[in-house]
Amino acid sequence: MSKVLVIGAGGVSSVAVHKMAMNAGIFPEIHLASRTKSKCDAIAQSVKERTGETVATYAIDAEDVPALSALIRQIGPSLVVNLALPYQDLTIMDACLETGVDYLDTANYEPKEEAKFEYKWQWAYHDRFKEAGLMALLGSGFDPGVTSVFTMWLKKHKLKTIRTLDILDCNGGDHGQAFATNFNPEINIREVTAPARHWENGQFVETPAMSNKVEFDFEGVGPKNMYLMYHEELESLAKFVPEMERARFWMTFGDEYIKHLTVLQNVGMTRIDPVIYEGKEIIPLQFLKAVLPEPASLGSTTKGKTNIGCIATGEALDGSGEKTFYIKNICDHEDAFAETGNQAVSYTTGVPAMIGSALMVQGIWKGDGVFNIEQLNPDPFMEMLNQHGLPWTVEELSGPVEF
Ligand code: NDP
Repeated sequence: MSKVLVIGAGGVSSVAVHKMAMNAGIFPEIHLASRTKSKCDAIAQSVKERTGETVATYAIDAEDVPALSALIRQIGPSLVVNLALPYQDLTIMDACLETGVDYLDTANYEPKEEAKFEYKWQWAYHDRFKEAGLMALLGSGFDPGVTSVFTMWLKKHKLKTIRTLDILDCNGGDHGQAFATNFNPEINIREVTAPARHWENGQFVETPAMSNKVEFDFEGVGPKNMYLMYHEELESLAKFVPEMERARFWMTFGDEYIKHLTVLQNVGMTRIDPVIYEGKEIIPLQFLKAVLPEPASLGSTTKGKTNIGCIATGEALDGSGEKTFYIKNICDHEDAFAETGNQAVSYTTGVPAMIGSALMVQGIWKGDGVFNIEQLNPDPFMEMLNQHGLPWTVEELSGPVEF
């Protein structure tokens, strides 16, 4: 029987653990560990009330490899699901190697002192996982995750080659706050304030953050401004879909969000280097996180929908010339909250984390080494999205995007 150990007790973890408990046939034993045990206990209590299932909870610092290895040995899971922060990816992978257990995450490693995310640190673990006969699955969230699988599904079923790819991420939710982020504020603000990068003719092209804006009419949401950004799946997609001429990632932001972020940036509150305040070193962005609303607290007030998908243009599989397809999921914040007690941004990440875990513990996805989600068969994942709350649609557009 498969046991899983989930690490981290934020919104994404809460959704994944609830969804695992709703599929007790696949996940008969769930263990949950995080830095603050009371957050694990709150999730376990909600899971008990909603599903009747029991979740065992523990306190752990996932950056302490010996302590984490001891906990993994004590529990004996077949999979460790990392839903803590990107900073902990490498230490959790180290503990998995140490104890001989498979690994899954939703976000690639990022060093604390530099806002720079790249797969190179985790790809460097490939040989060690391979030699140990273990599997590490990287990026089983929504983006990366579902967007990567959407692209590979199009490549398998609709397009022989992909010439251009646009990933469109719209959060049309309104939480009623002047400024708040829908997932960990520190990670979110580091991502948004980094320069934009897109893939074009075999290399990444860098442009200033938030300098490229396009209005797009999102189904279920309406017209929204979306901004060109860098996102980590561009790196893995450029590697696994090498024929792409151009790949871009777009995310919507409201004017209020941009206004607040601009001011915070201008006054230095998004800095990640230490400053001395009253004789003590503080990191302004970490201080800012402490005064912003907890993303989990926004769930009960958030209304509206997310709409995230991919538009791909390329040579049709059936030989009918160049075609363009739009594949997407629309998720309702209030429905997500009613089901798991978390809003749609956590829901759209936690459900794919559960699905990737389910495919691994059942041996449907298997391999020795470190894999990006693009390397696995998209079909069973796509089927499970439809069954577990993230249904998708695919449509043919009349031509390539005009922006
Ligand atoms: P939260 O900040 O809500 O939760 C993170 C959790 O990790 C907290 O419970 C935190 O503990 C815990 N944690 C932090 N440091 C440690 C540590 N050293 N040891 C043990 N536990 C630790 O984040 P989210 O739930 O919003 O996001 C979780 C992950 O999902 C992140 O990596 C994020 O980047 C990723 N993500 C991926 C997306 C995708 O589509 N692929 C989209 C959204 C998020 P404490 O409570 O004590 O602070």
